[in-house]
Amino acid sequence: MNNAVVIGGGISGLASAYFLSERPDPPKITILESEDHLGGTIRGIDFGSKKVETGPDSFITRNLSAVDLAAILELSERLVAPATSSAFIYSRSKLHHIPKGTVFGAPSDMKKFLGNSLISRPGQLRAALEPLLGRARIEGDTTVGAFSKKRWGREITDKLIEPLVGGIHAGTVQQLSLAQCAPQYMQAALAGNSVSAGLKSQMAGYTPNGHPMFYSFAEGLSELVDGLLKLLIDRNVQILTGCQSLEIIPDHDGYEVVTSCGTIAAEGVVCATPAYVTSRLVMPVSRIAGELLGTIEYASPIMTLLAFEDESFSQPLEGSGVLIPRRNGTLATAVTFATNKWPSWKSEGETLLRISSGRVGDNRAWQLSDDVLVASLESEMEQILGVRARSTRHHISRWKDRIPQFKPFHSELIQRIRDNLPVGIELAGAPFLGVGIPACISSSALAAERLSRNSFKPR
Ligand SMILES: Cc1cc2nc3c(=O)[nH]c(=O)nc-3n(C[C@H](O)[C@H](O)[C@H](O)COP(=O)(O)OP(=O)(O)OC[C@H]3O[C@@H](n4cnc5c(N)ncnc54)[C@H](O)[C@@H]3O)c2cc1C
Repeated sequence: MNNAVVIGGGISGLASAYFLSERPDPPKITILESEDHLGGTIRGIDFGSKKVETGPDSFITRNLSAVDLAAILELSERLVAPATSSAFIYSRSKLHHIPKGTVFGAPSDMKKFLGNSLISRPGQLRAALEPLLGRARIEGDTTVGAFSKKRWGREITDKLIEPLVGGIHAGTVQQLSLAQCAPQYMQAALAGNSVSAGLKSQMAGYTPNGHPMFYSFAEGLSELVDGLLKLLIDRNVQILTGCQSLEIIPDHDGYEVVTSCGTIAAEGVVCATPAYVTSRLVMPVSRIAGELLGTIEYASPIMTLLAFEDESFSQPLEGSGVLIPRRNGTLATAVTFATNKWPSWKSEGETLLRISSGRVGDNRAWQLSDDVLVASLESEMEQILGVRARSTRHHISRWKDRIPQFKPFHSELIQRIRDNLPVGIELAGAPFLGVGIPACISSSALAAERLSRNSFKPR
């Protein structure tokens, strides 16, 4: 392969270009990005005198691909862990600690779980019956919500599992795939009669990898983007921003990528764009793959930063934030106590909240003007956190169609998409192995590896 094009300059596209540049005898690589900036959803802004995140604020270390990439970019010493990780759940007008003895929201250790303040006594007793239900029968896949309701009951599903598992995807557990979004429950179900007992032994068998659960960088996640960019420039990768890819058409030597800034020939193409964009790009080379990609739905969260004077809080906030179950009816779905979690974001005398709103089935926040959204969130913060004053500054990021939704049998869908793409076209990004940054990087490594292995053969 002499020429490769990577479409999309988010973390998945940049990482794909890096992994391609690592192959023996690497091709000449061009990255095409439609916006003027690189990094996609990773976006730091100057807010007052501090640099803060408006998209992701950290990445998980259970998958080590981001940690490994940081080491390659000589950024290991720049990694920083959140200063606090304890979180609350808002229910019945109170903040409750996430109950002990749970794994990803699901009860695993009844001795520790029973007696928590979040779940009612009947709800706790219902969960305690789980080992008596017999082995879970899952025909290939199901939704997280259907599974958890059957195993632990409705209350635990609504108050714990929905905000934790649904929250990560800005989705709803009533639609999300068990296999894809809560694989630990699935593994526990396959291991024995009680899913709770299976989760408990998973925890007992878990070997820490020596890293805190989450990391960012001293100056934010853009350090990863900037580090990749520097390395790619050193390796003569051509990076075209403000250049929108329109379609990929086959020609006798491979493909032509038609863009708003001309046509570029390549024997290999990695599409690291959202599925609905990739759908349009690949339509001329595979109508079936294009149509299947078009079926992947996306959620549209909004991230609002609100700054308050410290005195606006009756007492200092504790912990890293609060998750808000859907049944509370608030616009806010989660609040990060940003200056607790990331002390370097703190300006003297100021507390910063990062408030998520907008999730599948609830687009109320999208209908509001910025001013009304800010006023509504301020009044919700009064209700939830007892904040007695208006915010002093704000910033709103509306992330339209950014988080793919993994419905049951998602991995089978992805397999069908790959099977229907011709050799020389590969896919990377959040729709493939998971929405987190490490999963995106893993999908990029896979795309680069597959592209290098499979030489171009027109169909
Ligand atoms: C609000 C929010 C908070 C999040 N929080 C976290 C978190 O804390 N931790 C975590 O791990 N993950 C988090 N995520 C998820 C994570 O940020 C994303 O899944 C990941 O960044 C996606 O990277 P990507 O490169 O695949 O896609 P994107 O970042 O969407 O990049 C795709 C790129 O393709 C470009 N593009 C689109 N169409 C074209 C075209 N036609 N031609 C050329 N270029 C095109 C876009 O402009 C964009 O730059 C969060 C996501 C959101 C929205």
